[in-house]
Amino acid sequence: MLKTIRQSANKKTGPIAVTYRAGAHHTFGSCPPTCALNPQGAHGAALVDTEYLAALYDAVPPNGQAWTYSHFAFQNLPRPAPGKTTINYSADTMAQAVAAVRTGRPAVVAAPSGTVWPYVFEGVQFVQCPEQLSPPGSGFTCASCGNGRPLCARAGREYVIVFVAHGTGAAKVAADDPGGCYAAQGHAAIAWHATRTKGAPDDAAALAAFARSLPAGSLLRHHVAGDIGLAA
Ligand code: SF4
Repeated sequence: MLKTIRQSANKKTGPIAVTYRAGAHHTFGSCPPTCALNPQGAHGAALVDTEYLAALYDAVPPNGQAWTYSHFAFQNLPRPAPGKTTINYSADTMAQAVAAVRTGRPAVVAAPSGTVWPYVFEGVQFVQCPEQLSPPGSGFTCASCGNGRPLCARAGREYVIVFVAHGTGAAKVAADDPGGCYAAQGHAAIAWHATRTKGAPDDAAALAAFARSLPAGSLLRHHVAGDIGLAA
């Protein structure tokens, strides 16, 4: 199930196009059960939805930029290419992130609250998302990140972007218990739960049509919540 929003009210992304993806039976239904941040792994998808993944890779607004993140193993993810969606591997550990970067795939990692960056690990630089470092009220968002070229959309990026945990799930990030997904609470959770019941059922077709319909030069952030799994 896919929910599309032409202009997000999300404070982090800024006013760009976004999507949410969920299973028809469970909100976490498109997420891998192995994701360390998934508090309900039993409801996740073991397999990648290859039809949806192909549509995702191609779903870039005309002359625009698109990006997303996946917690599925990085070997499943197509490498960045001109005119394609940049699919970042969401690593649970710095070692996993480095392994992905070594195969030519961009990576991000969630880090515990209170950690300080940048940091070089095994020769790869880790930098914190600049939106997290911007002063409150500055208005910095993904829409203004990178002077029109958001860091997460950059295909040839060799540095890993770090998201330092915050919010009510922060204590669970990098802890032994599953949980810590930022979309499991607040406004993101409300929009995500609505996706399960009100989203478009043919998500591959809906996504292709949505990307085509956006104004030239648009930014599109896929999956504010959700992933590329074959949802039951
Ligand atoms: S690095 Fe930039 S594009 Fe990525 S999440 Fe942070 S603000 Fe958005």
